[in-house]
Amino acid sequence: MLNIDLAELQQHSTPLYVYNLPLLRQTLDAAQQEARKYNYHVHYALKANANAPILEAMRTYGFGADCVSGNEVKTAIASGFAPSDVVFAGVGKSDAEINYALDQDIFCFNCESKQELEVLNELAALKGKTARVALRINPNVNANTHKYITTGLEENKFGINAWELESVLELLAQLPNIDLIGIHFHIGSQITDLSVFKNLCTRVNEFQQWFAAHKITLQHINVGGGLGVDYYQPEQQLIPDFASYFNLFHQFLELRSGQQVHFELGRALVAQCGTLVSKVLYIKKGMTTNFAILDAGMTELIRPALYQSYHKIENLSSQLPEERYDVVGPICESSDCFGKAVILPETSRGDLIAIRTAGAYGEVMASNYNLREKAQALYLQDQQV
Ligand SMILES: *Cc1c(COP(=O)(O)O)cnc(C)c1O
Repeated sequence: MLNIDLAELQQHSTPLYVYNLPLLRQTLDAAQQEARKYNYHVHYALKANANAPILEAMRTYGFGADCVSGNEVKTAIASGFAPSDVVFAGVGKSDAEINYALDQDIFCFNCESKQELEVLNELAALKGKTARVALRINPNVNANTHKYITTGLEENKFGINAWELESVLELLAQLPNIDLIGIHFHIGSQITDLSVFKNLCTRVNEFQQWFAAHKITLQHINVGGGLGVDYYQPEQQLIPDFASYFNLFHQFLELRSGQQVHFELGRALVAQCGTLVSKVLYIKKGMTTNFAILDAGMTELIRPALYQSYHKIENLSSQLPEERYDVVGPICESSDCFGKAVILPETSRGDLIAIRTAGAYGEVMASNYNLREKAQALYLQDQQV
């Protein structure tokens, strides 16, 4: 998965994010090929990874940009995405962020509340503009994923609940500077059970009937992102099964004539191309376990601490018989742990450790807690994967 040899890798300082760009391109190619079969539009969710070479690849492959902050909108446009390919979601858009996006004439605001619709209308009116809007609806579909990355249940803060829709339409009738062009859903992340998306389709069909009954035509149906990746055996499925994913929507989503379907994929496009490489600082004997203490921690990759998520860990330097280690970082938090009872070849100070599937929600979530420095990134270009 890392198309670089160990000696070359050792020249670089650690912690180091290594991105395999040929694998990224293969992934994007596969996603676009499958999406194109049904004329689906895919927007890349910048929040998964907004590094310049990643964004450049996304743009080259013809993806739009799905943004959740004003700075993401700014970064997308500065990276060459056409404003007409930019959508802007998020429950808490500030006035400054909305104004900026209005000035850029982005494709669509995914609005998450009545209050936001009112503010957007007011700010658009001040500029003499009309804002294109998709209502982000909370479909109350369980994503069967970690509770911190579940977003489509009524108990979550995201979206407009079904029981509010009637009053949203009454409100929209009084908001002349809003142009309702579609509906939007995003039910969560790292969804590996495709039947969840089938349930989403069923709900979207019901909402479509509701809007049709209210004589409202929707041009755009945005079903969000959330397709998961294999963190346990990354090399067995380096490229997610985009064929089954898009085909499922093709089978179960009931479209009306002229409707465009949009997707917002993040993780599925970038997770597998990124690896966090770290050096073992110390092996420390604990009461019941050995600790392998790395020079990378939750400041470089917070997912295990934040979501109890699993990342496959490998020792790139050792081929000795296996032992068990708790693989931890140097940060002064007990949650700064990449994995407990991880089986690794006997590990010593100086060994290089690879933490796989770190391309999404890794480097973007880095912090300088403990006044740590930002990890470097290395982009591998070679053709072999
Ligand atoms: C995070 C996010 C996505 C992308 O989710 P993935 O699980 O990375 O595909 C898409 N849409 C919205 C609105 C999001 O917040």
